[in-house]
Amino acid sequence: MASHILAIDQGTTSSRAIVFDADGHAVASAQKDLTQHFPADGWVEHDATDIWMDTLAVCRRAIADSGVTAGDIAAIGITNQRETAILWDRASGAPVHRAIVWQDRRTAPLCRDLRTGGHEPLIRRKTGLLIDPYFSATKVAWMLDHVDGLRTRAEAGEICFGTVDSWLLWNLTGGAVHATDATNAARTLLFDIRTHRWDDDLLALFTIPRAVLPEVRDNAADFGTTVPDLLGAPIPVAGMAGDQHAAVVGQCCFDAGMIKSTYGTGAFALLTIGETFVESRNRLLTTIAYRLDGRTVYAMEGSIFVAGAAVQWLRDGLGLIATAAESEALAGQVPDSGGCYLVPAFTGLGAPYWDPDARGALVGLTRDTGRAHVARATLEAQGYQTRDLMEAMTADSGTAPVSLRVDGGLVANDMACQFLADVLDIQVERPAVIETTALGAAYLAGFQVGVFQGLDDLSHRWSRDRMFTPDMPADRRERLYAGWAAAVRRVMTGDR
Ligand code: ADP
Repeated sequence: MASHILAIDQGTTSSRAIVFDADGHAVASAQKDLTQHFPADGWVEHDATDIWMDTLAVCRRAIADSGVTAGDIAAIGITNQRETAILWDRASGAPVHRAIVWQDRRTAPLCRDLRTGGHEPLIRRKTGLLIDPYFSATKVAWMLDHVDGLRTRAEAGEICFGTVDSWLLWNLTGGAVHATDATNAARTLLFDIRTHRWDDDLLALFTIPRAVLPEVRDNAADFGTTVPDLLGAPIPVAGMAGDQHAAVVGQCCFDAGMIKSTYGTGAFALLTIGETFVESRNRLLTTIAYRLDGRTVYAMEGSIFVAGAAVQWLRDGLGLIATAAESEALAGQVPDSGGCYLVPAFTGLGAPYWDPDARGALVGLTRDTGRAHVARATLEAQGYQTRDLMEAMTADSGTAPVSLRVDGGLVANDMACQFLADVLDIQVERPAVIETTALGAAYLAGFQVGVFQGLDDLSHRWSRDRMFTPDMPADRRERLYAGWAAAVRRVMTGDR
């Protein structure tokens, strides 16, 4: 009997495929970097065809390297960069524009108009989100308004909208299925996360025709079957979730009060809050953590746009390091950042500031500031940004968290993890598997086809690689954090 699961993790900077066995161990993986397009300041695009072709290539490679055949794969789980919007032609399957990536800020003026128009309270109540270019709706509206004739075709039902999960599913099933899952739908600004319906008021507000929308399913569901030729056998797609939601599942943060934070290109902390929708009073988002068997568990989310991307900037922008991992040794040459702070607002500020026009800054420079201080300030920024989110979560929930489960590429960095523990003053737990996003997608697909049994079964599998314990005097912690708050104030445009 087929017992393996293929997880597709289509991220912002790369596409990955991992084959997991029935014990949740990765047996093979393949990865390909995704080309980024930056056509203007604050614009970020991906070629949707690249996304699909890269994904297909890594799936084939992972299966070939796994020692099992396509026929041994019981199901596919898909997890993806969220909010990134793609429109394609329903008849030909061809994209009508490049994908507009979640980081893209081109719709900031439209968002400002909608906010000034007083629409935000309604949006917060229905979607748990706020009005920001980050989410899909204004990106879709932008394409409908800027590609010749597109709006008319969309209204006639000739165009499909999808986030990356839908786009991959469409291609895997040879155009047979146009569907998404509840967590990806929750990031569009068009989906009411309490009623689980695409919302007419929101569609009207963003001027998006209903005819473009995919059908919304649970995170573990029957999403269709792959075209046999693609991977060597027809394989059911049985799980789908946005990357941060898959990470909640992979980190087994199923119970209210548990928090995970993932540090990839950006950083995203999700606090599981249970089955009742609660609106944040502190500029966090409310989102669907997961929806299984029609049962919805919600989370509060803090979204930071630039985390690991700041380390990439040290490497590619400044040329201070040759690899991301070198940031640790370089930062380790100095005992502290010497009063230097990096505010990595390269694409605006996310939670809890939501200032799309803010841009980054390096402040507190003196004649003594050197490369190592800048590297250290870059790693420390991850801690400060997370502290901003934790302050908001504590204010919303009334209880301070005691521990944080971390994952993502950046947490391979021990120094960053230790600083996180120090500046948050809580225990930071790094799991044995830091590919939790892909693992979460595999768990979801595995549930659906019976390879994995249930949430309790999974919780027992979670194991820790290392715990980072706070080790910083309170006065120093608060002095450093006050310096960060002052640095952030200097970059804010006061738009909100
Ligand atoms: P994504 O899925 O968003 O593409 P990943 O989870 O693969 O991201 O993480 C990649 C990010 O982690 C990159 O931005 C990279 O700069 C950063 N990174 C990887 N290794 C390290 C390290 N040892 N120290 C600091 N940052 C790192």
